Amino acid sequence: MIHKNLSLIMLHTIKKTLISFLTLISFFSFSQPGNIAVVVHGGAGWFSNMNQDEVEGIESALNQAINEGYQIMLDGGSSLDAVEHIIVILEDDPLFNAGKGAVYTSDFKQELDASIMDGSNLNAGSVASVTNVKNPIKLARFIMENTEHVMFSSKGAERIARDAGLEIVYPNYFYSKEKLDRARNAQYTEKNGTVGVVALDSYGNISAGTSTGGMTNKMPGRIGDSPIIGAGTWAENDVCGVSGTGHGEFFIRFGVAKEICALMKYKNMSAEEAAEIVIEKLSDIGADGGVIVLDSEGNPAMIFNTPAMARAYKNSSESTYVQIYQD
Ligand code: ASP
Repeated sequence: MIHKNLSLIMLHTIKKTLISFLTLISFFSFSQPGNIAVVVHGGAGWFSNMNQDEVEGIESALNQAINEGYQIMLDGGSSLDAVEHIIVILEDDPLFNAGKGAVYTSDFKQELDASIMDGSNLNAGSVASVTNVKNPIKLARFIMENTEHVMFSSKGAERIARDAGLEIVYPNYFYSKEKLDRARNAQYTEKNGTVGVVALDSYGNISAGTSTGGMTNKMPGRIGDSPIIGAGTWAENDVCGVSGTGHGEFFIRFGVAKEICALMKYKNMSAEEAAEIVIEKLSDIGADGGVIVLDSEGNPAMIFNTPAMARAYKNSSESTYVQIYQD
């Protein structure tokens, strides 16, 4: 009897030790912070008629924005917070075609588009053709988190922004003589770029967002790829995140962002391989553009078929990479 009790106690002790050991292992592995990485674009295009101040301005804005976003995640913040924060900085900077720097339509007004996606649950929010919302990316996130819908446009979207207490501005907030002249002269060659961000946080969550004024001289009411989930923006945990920039109609027709993630998911391609294949397809039909991609480990791809794409990348092991023209 004593013998039996002793073996039972021993068994119990072994079991308890094993459980503590396993708990310790799982605590250790779950408490290890994962890779943090973030990639940003400031538009694909020519950037050929920019002066040195503008080039340096774009580079330093990207550098500051990506470092602030990275720090948010380093402090334990989410990739969604990083994406929103970086895009707000770039929307407030007239050097980019988003928010304050938005280009003009053919009737000389600005209509802004933006979207955001949470890769942890495939939740998404987007806005199109808003005219008085200072930061369309904030509105996209508000829609994602507070409504049961994904996409709102113009007046309806603006009403949500007002009700949500987001900052509303007079249209002259977006005024730019230079951009107005470009629209008046029907110059399609963009000098300022759409902005986009993909981030991976320490919890393994990937988020992506894109914000734009669209294309100079676009017809009133025209909506590009940037607010279209799967075309200009996509995020899916354990697979990838994408933000695109370029001739939006082609990005919509080719479902660019989702297509890249599908190649990675179902064909086991790297971010670089998948992005190259899709951008090559765009080149084949004469469509200009580029994409930024992050895989689930935080490895980036920054692929474009134009002479330049303003872009930046940061992870824990490298210093901040910022570049506009081809390497
Ligand atoms: N993709 C944007 C649009 O078509 C423009 C851009 O990225 O330059 O609206």
